[in-house]
Amino acid sequence: MPELPEITSRAIEMNKELTGKTIQAFEVLQPKCLNVTPDELNQFLNHSVIESVTHHGKWIMAHTTQGWLLINLGMGGEILLVNRKQMPAKYKLVIDFTDQSCLAINFWWFGYVHFCALDGLSNHPMIAKLGPNVLDLSEEDFTNLIKNQKGKVKAFLLDQSRLAGIGNAYVHDILFMAKLHPNRLIANLSTAEISALFKGIQDGLRPSLAKGGAFYEMNLYGEKGGFQMEDIIIGYRENTPCPQCGAPIQKIKTGSTSSFICSTCQPES
Ligand SMILES: [Zn+2]
Repeated sequence: MPELPEITSRAIEMNKELTGKTIQAFEVLQPKCLNVTPDELNQFLNHSVIESVTHHGKWIMAHTTQGWLLINLGMGGEILLVNRKQMPAKYKLVIDFTDQSCLAINFWWFGYVHFCALDGLSNHPMIAKLGPNVLDLSEEDFTNLIKNQKGKVKAFLLDQSRLAGIGNAYVHDILFMAKLHPNRLIANLSTAEISALFKGIQDGLRPSLAKGGAFYEMNLYGEKGGFQMEDIIIGYRENTPCPQCGAPIQKIKTGSTSSFICSTCQPES
Protein backbone atom coordinates (compact mmCIF):
# COMPACT_ATOMS: atom_id res chain seq x y z
CA MET A 1 0.00 0.00 0.00
CA PRO A 2 1.44 3.41 -0.87
CA GLU A 3 2.35 5.58 2.11
CA LEU A 4 3.96 8.97 2.47
CA PRO A 5 7.31 8.19 0.75
CA GLU A 6 5.54 6.73 -2.28
CA ILE A 7 2.78 9.36 -2.53
CA THR A 8 5.20 12.25 -2.02
CA SER A 9 7.51 10.79 -4.68
CA ARG A 10 4.61 10.50 -7.18
CA ALA A 11 3.50 14.07 -6.46
CA ILE A 12 7.06 15.37 -7.00
CA GLU A 13 7.36 13.45 -10.29
CA MET A 14 3.94 14.63 -11.45
CA ASN A 15 4.68 18.23 -10.52
CA LYS A 16 7.88 18.04 -12.58
CA GLU A 17 6.38 16.29 -15.60
CA LEU A 18 2.79 17.55 -15.80
CA THR A 19 3.03 21.24 -14.89
CA GLY A 20 2.10 23.22 -17.99
CA LYS A 21 0.34 20.34 -19.73
CA THR A 22 -3.21 20.92 -21.01
CA ILE A 23 -5.82 18.23 -20.38
CA GLN A 24 -7.54 17.15 -23.59
CA ALA A 25 -9.90 14.42 -22.39
CA PHE A 26 -10.53 11.70 -19.81
CA GLU A 27 -11.26 8.09 -20.67
CA VAL A 28 -12.99 6.49 -17.71
CA LEU A 29 -13.19 2.69 -17.55
CA GLN A 30 -14.27 2.56 -13.90
CA PRO A 31 -16.89 5.33 -13.39
CA LYS A 32 -17.43 4.38 -9.74
CA CYS A 33 -13.98 5.80 -8.88
CA LEU A 34 -15.33 9.28 -9.73
CA ASN A 35 -17.36 11.70 -7.61
CA VAL A 36 -18.95 13.14 -10.77
CA THR A 37 -20.08 11.50 -14.01
CA PRO A 38 -17.48 10.89 -16.74
CA ASP A 39 -19.23 13.55 -18.86
CA GLU A 40 -19.02 16.07 -16.02
CA LEU A 41 -15.33 15.31 -15.45
CA ASN A 42 -14.65 16.04 -19.12
CA GLN A 43 -16.82 19.14 -19.05
CA PHE A 44 -15.15 20.54 -15.92
CA LEU A 45 -11.48 19.81 -16.66
CA ASN A 46 -10.97 19.48 -20.43
CA HIS A 47 -8.78 22.35 -21.72
CA SER A 48 -7.54 23.08 -18.18
CA VAL A 49 -3.81 23.56 -17.62
CA ILE A 50 -2.03 21.80 -14.74
CA GLU A 51 -0.33 24.42 -12.60
CA SER A 52 1.18 22.29 -9.83
CA VAL A 53 0.90 18.88 -8.16
CA THR A 54 1.11 18.38 -4.38
CA HIS A 55 -0.29 15.85 -1.92
CA HIS A 56 -2.16 15.67 1.34
CA GLY A 57 -2.03 12.30 3.06
CA LYS A 58 -2.65 9.69 0.38
CA TRP A 59 -4.34 12.16 -1.97
CA ILE A 60 -2.35 13.43 -4.94
CA MET A 61 -3.73 16.86 -5.80
CA ALA A 62 -3.30 18.46 -9.21
CA HIS A 63 -4.16 22.15 -9.20
CA THR A 64 -5.49 23.10 -12.65
CA THR A 65 -6.80 26.35 -14.06
CA GLN A 66 -10.37 24.98 -13.82
CA GLY A 67 -10.36 23.03 -10.56
CA TRP A 68 -8.61 20.34 -8.56
CA LEU A 69 -8.01 16.86 -9.95
CA LEU A 70 -7.61 14.56 -6.93
CA ILE A 71 -6.21 11.01 -7.13
CA ASN A 72 -6.10 8.39 -4.37
CA LEU A 73 -4.58 4.98 -5.19
CA GLY A 74 -6.28 3.28 -2.23
CA MET A 75 -4.59 -0.06 -1.57
CA GLY A 76 -2.11 0.56 -4.40
CA GLY A 77 -1.83 1.06 -8.11
CA GLU A 78 0.17 2.74 -10.82
CA ILE A 79 0.19 6.19 -12.33
CA LEU A 80 2.22 5.98 -15.54
CA LEU A 81 3.23 8.74 -17.92
CA VAL A 82 2.94 7.11 -21.35
CA ASN A 83 1.33 7.71 -24.73
CA ARG A 84 -1.45 5.96 -26.61
CA LYS A 85 1.06 3.84 -28.56
CA GLN A 86 2.63 2.32 -25.42
CA MET A 87 -0.22 1.76 -23.01
CA PRO A 88 0.15 -0.58 -20.00
CA ALA A 89 -1.91 -3.78 -19.96
CA LYS A 90 -4.23 -2.55 -17.20
CA TYR A 91 -5.71 0.87 -16.52
CA LYS A 92 -8.93 2.27 -15.09
CA LEU A 93 -8.65 5.88 -16.21
CA VAL A 94 -6.60 7.75 -18.82
CA ILE A 95 -5.92 11.48 -18.93
CA ASP A 96 -4.94 12.57 -22.43
CA PHE A 97 -2.92 15.75 -22.80
CA THR A 98 -2.79 17.98 -25.86
CA ASP A 99 0.91 17.13 -26.40
CA GLN A 100 -0.09 13.47 -27.12
CA SER A 101 1.26 12.17 -23.81
CA CYS A 102 -1.17 10.63 -21.36
CA LEU A 103 -1.42 9.48 -17.78
CA ALA A 104 -2.65 5.89 -17.35
CA ILE A 105 -4.00 5.25 -13.86
CA ASN A 106 -4.56 1.74 -12.51
CA PHE A 107 -5.94 0.68 -9.14
CA TRP A 108 -5.07 -2.77 -7.78
CA TRP A 109 -8.23 -2.81 -5.74
CA PHE A 110 -10.16 0.45 -5.58
CA GLY A 111 -9.18 4.08 -5.80
CA TYR A 112 -10.59 7.52 -6.42
CA VAL A 113 -10.33 10.22 -9.07
CA HIS A 114 -12.27 13.24 -7.85
CA PHE A 115 -13.04 16.67 -9.22
CA CYS A 116 -13.12 19.55 -6.74
CA ALA A 117 -13.78 23.23 -7.33
CA LEU A 118 -10.78 25.51 -6.79
CA ASP A 119 -12.27 26.86 -3.55
CA GLY A 120 -13.79 23.54 -2.50
CA LEU A 121 -10.96 21.55 -0.85
CA SER A 122 -12.10 22.44 2.67
CA ASN A 123 -15.47 20.85 1.85
CA HIS A 124 -14.08 17.68 0.28
CA PRO A 125 -15.50 14.96 2.57
CA MET A 126 -12.29 12.92 2.79
CA ILE A 127 -9.52 15.52 2.48
CA ALA A 128 -11.10 17.96 4.95
CA LYS A 129 -10.80 15.28 7.68
CA LEU A 130 -7.04 14.77 7.28
CA GLY A 131 -4.50 15.88 9.84
CA PRO A 132 -1.35 17.69 8.69
CA ASN A 133 1.21 15.93 6.47
CA VAL A 134 3.58 14.36 8.97
CA LEU A 135 6.82 15.48 7.30
CA ASP A 136 5.60 19.08 7.06
CA LEU A 137 5.69 19.37 10.87
CA SER A 138 8.63 20.88 12.75
CA GLU A 139 9.56 19.22 16.05
CA GLU A 140 7.76 22.03 17.86
CA ASP A 141 4.59 21.55 15.73
CA PHE A 142 4.71 17.80 16.35
CA THR A 143 5.21 18.21 20.09
CA ASN A 144 2.27 20.61 20.34
CA LEU A 145 0.09 18.25 18.28
CA ILE A 146 0.82 15.05 20.23
CA LYS A 147 0.53 16.68 23.65
CA ASN A 148 -3.19 17.20 23.08
CA GLN A 149 -3.80 13.59 22.01
CA LYS A 150 -5.06 10.59 23.95
CA GLY A 151 -4.72 6.84 23.51
CA LYS A 152 -1.91 4.58 22.36
CA VAL A 153 1.03 5.81 20.35
CA LYS A 154 0.70 3.44 17.37
CA ALA A 155 -3.02 4.16 16.97
CA PHE A 156 -2.19 7.87 16.99
CA LEU A 157 0.50 7.48 14.31
CA LEU A 158 -1.86 5.54 12.02
CA ASP A 159 -4.91 7.78 12.50
CA GLN A 160 -4.91 9.90 9.34
CA SER A 161 -7.31 12.42 10.88
CA ARG A 162 -4.63 13.30 13.45
CA LEU A 163 -1.45 12.88 11.39
CA ALA A 164 -1.46 12.17 7.64
CA GLY A 165 1.00 9.88 5.91
CA ILE A 166 2.12 7.00 8.16
CA GLY A 167 0.76 3.53 7.41
CA ASN A 168 1.51 -0.03 8.41
CA ALA A 169 4.67 -0.49 6.33
CA TYR A 170 6.81 2.15 8.07
CA VAL A 171 5.27 2.38 11.55
CA HIS A 172 7.22 -0.62 12.98
CA ASP A 173 10.64 0.88 12.30
CA ILE A 174 9.51 4.34 13.45
CA LEU A 175 8.48 2.95 16.86
CA PHE A 176 11.60 0.77 17.10
CA MET A 177 13.91 3.73 16.41
CA ALA A 178 12.02 5.75 19.04
CA LYS A 179 12.29 2.74 21.45
CA LEU A 180 8.54 2.90 22.08
CA HIS A 181 6.17 -0.06 22.46
CA PRO A 182 3.12 0.41 20.16
CA ASN A 183 0.78 0.23 23.17
CA ARG A 184 2.48 2.99 25.15
CA LEU A 185 -0.02 5.66 26.21
CA ILE A 186 0.65 9.11 24.78
CA ALA A 187 -0.21 10.64 28.15
CA ASN A 188 2.78 8.83 29.71
CA LEU A 189 5.41 9.82 27.14
CA SER A 190 8.25 11.97 28.44
CA THR A 191 9.53 15.03 26.58
CA ALA A 192 12.60 13.00 25.57
CA GLU A 193 10.39 10.19 24.25
CA ILE A 194 8.30 12.61 22.17
CA SER A 195 11.53 14.02 20.75
CA ALA A 196 12.73 10.46 19.99
CA LEU A 197 9.42 9.74 18.25
CA PHE A 198 9.77 12.86 16.10
CA LYS A 199 13.29 11.72 15.14
CA GLY A 200 12.02 8.16 14.51
CA ILE A 201 9.42 9.51 12.08
CA GLN A 202 12.09 11.43 10.15
CA ASP A 203 14.50 8.47 10.12
CA GLY A 204 11.68 6.04 9.29
CA LEU A 205 10.29 7.95 6.31
CA ARG A 206 12.98 10.17 4.78
CA PRO A 207 15.40 7.42 3.60
CA SER A 208 12.58 5.84 1.57
CA LEU A 209 11.48 9.23 0.26
CA ALA A 210 15.07 9.89 -0.85
CA LYS A 211 14.98 6.59 -2.80
CA GLY A 212 11.64 7.32 -4.51
CA GLY A 213 9.61 5.05 -2.21
CA ALA A 214 9.36 1.31 -1.66
CA PHE A 215 10.31 -1.37 -4.18
CA TYR A 216 6.74 -2.66 -4.46
CA GLU A 217 5.44 0.58 -6.01
CA MET A 218 6.27 1.92 -9.49
CA ASN A 219 7.10 5.50 -10.32
CA LEU A 220 5.67 7.61 -13.14
CA TYR A 221 8.20 6.07 -15.56
CA GLY A 222 7.38 2.44 -14.67
CA GLU A 223 10.48 1.92 -12.49
CA LYS A 224 10.33 0.36 -9.02
CA GLY A 225 11.13 2.45 -5.94
CA GLY A 226 14.67 2.11 -4.50
CA PHE A 227 13.74 1.41 -0.85
CA GLN A 228 14.34 -2.33 -0.52
CA MET A 229 13.31 -5.03 1.95
CA GLU A 230 16.87 -4.93 3.39
CA ASP A 231 16.37 -1.22 4.18
CA ILE A 232 13.61 -2.18 6.63
CA ILE A 233 15.12 -2.56 10.12
CA ILE A 234 12.65 -4.72 12.09
CA GLY A 235 9.31 -4.59 10.23
CA TYR A 236 8.27 -8.01 8.84
CA ARG A 237 11.39 -9.62 10.39
CA GLU A 238 9.78 -11.95 12.93
CA ASN A 239 12.31 -14.20 14.78
CA THR A 240 15.38 -12.49 13.33
CA PRO A 241 17.76 -10.88 15.87
CA CYS A 242 17.21 -7.26 16.90
CA PRO A 243 20.07 -5.20 15.38
CA GLN A 244 20.45 -3.36 18.73
CA CYS A 245 20.35 -6.16 21.33
CA GLY A 246 20.08 -9.48 19.49
CA ALA A 247 16.76 -10.52 21.03
CA PRO A 248 14.35 -12.09 18.51
CA ILE A 249 11.92 -9.71 16.81
CA GLN A 250 8.36 -10.56 17.81
CA LYS A 251 5.11 -10.21 15.90
CA ILE A 252 2.35 -9.21 18.29
CA LYS A 253 -1.31 -8.22 17.97
CA THR A 254 -1.99 -4.56 18.74
CA GLY A 255 -5.71 -3.93 18.42
CA SER A 256 -6.80 -4.82 14.89
CA THR A 257 -3.24 -4.68 13.47
CA SER A 258 -0.02 -6.64 13.93
CA SER A 259 3.17 -5.05 15.18
CA PHE A 260 6.81 -6.10 14.87
CA ILE A 261 8.75 -5.17 17.99
CA CYS A 262 11.82 -5.93 20.08
CA SER A 263 10.35 -6.41 23.54
CA THR A 264 13.76 -5.61 25.12
CA CYS A 265 14.33 -2.31 23.27
CA GLN A 266 10.62 -1.40 23.33
CA PRO A 267 9.30 -2.35 26.79
CA GLU A 268 5.55 -2.06 27.24
CA SER A 269 5.89 -0.30 30.59
ZN1 LIG B 1 16.36 -4.99 20.83
